[in-house]
Amino acid sequence: MSEQLERVKTLIVGSGPAGYTAAIYAARADLKPVLYTGMEPGGQLTTTTEVDNFPGYPEGIDGPTMMMQLQQQAERFGTEVRIGMITAVDLSDEVGGIHKVTVDDSKIVEAETVIISTGASAKYLNIPSEQRLRGGGVSACAVCDGFFYKGQEVAIVGGGDTAAEEASYLANICKKVTMLIRKDEMRASKAMQHRVNSLENIEVRYNTEVDEVIGDQVVEGLRMVNNQTGEKEEIAITGLFIAIGHKPNTDIFKGQLEMDETGYLITQPKSTKTSKPGVFASGDAQDKIYRQAITAAGTGCMAALDAERYLATVESKETLVS
Ligand code: NDP
Repeated sequence: MSEQLERVKTLIVGSGPAGYTAAIYAARADLKPVLYTGMEPGGQLTTTTEVDNFPGYPEGIDGPTMMMQLQQQAERFGTEVRIGMITAVDLSDEVGGIHKVTVDDSKIVEAETVIISTGASAKYLNIPSEQRLRGGGVSACAVCDGFFYKGQEVAIVGGGDTAAEEASYLANICKKVTMLIRKDEMRASKAMQHRVNSLENIEVRYNTEVDEVIGDQVVEGLRMVNNQTGEKEEIAITGLFIAIGHKPNTDIFKGQLEMDETGYLITQPKSTKTSKPGVFASGDAQDKIYRQAITAAGTGCMAALDAERYLATVESKETLVS
């Protein structure tokens, strides 16, 4: 490994709405942020076609354009956006300590503060017909894409709180929602189960899995299979929502930052502070409940403000000591 060292005030990891919003605020506060984009520049929104629920876009905007504009806005105030993947971190335990971040297994950047906005990735079933129709009627976000299926028949896979919440959301918009649950019971909380069961246009199918998504360019139907009897059945649908969980992109922080059992970073209440001083977490990497672009952007702003305050405290201590 080459020993190229560079010191920055604020290093931002990730380029979704959280990362770019943190960058806008950090740059305007003169923290001279350097942002590494990660593997998927622009984050999850670049896989969405139309974003209709981000305030300020009355006609909606497509995900990739929105992310490009956020990047331009961050760069306008002096953020240095770099293509690169953070492959390892060595985070300091000391207030005022320096965090070492390895980029692409080769370069080490030293940072006074680190803002983590690495996001999360939706899990998919990973069957060929589902992968082929992603963006053509297969979606992992009902709140983002449900509107396009107004008055139509759709299906949703999953039995957790997200699936139950999204099924209820879809039931308000769509004519009928078929919910596929692989076990003979729903994992969702009792309250969410009650909500699902109280909605007449949700049909819950237990012990049921996706056999194949039917359609050439767009979803036209679904072949389901009962995993107890092996019996198959086809239904006509135009949208298939996958709600089988998300995986936060936090593996590189394992053993260094506190996280819950599923890998979501734990932040102090009403703050983006992680378990290490000078390290802040924003967006989906620390949020398993809301997971919206606007909430990610909000926590990105909080992380930049927290970093600015932290640096001011550290600098004033250094002044007192010297
Ligand atoms: P969960 O992991 O809780 O649930 C995932 C669901 O998907 C389970 O029913 C699981 O089935 C099913 N599943 C997983 N893999 C497959 C597969 N390959 N094929 C078919 N089904 C599959 O994820 P959620 O996103 O629902 O929730 C994550 C966390 O966030 C939870 O702690 C939840 O409580 C929380 N949350 C809270 C909310 C709230 O409080 N309002 C809202 C949303 C989430 P099985 O049960 O068989 O494993």
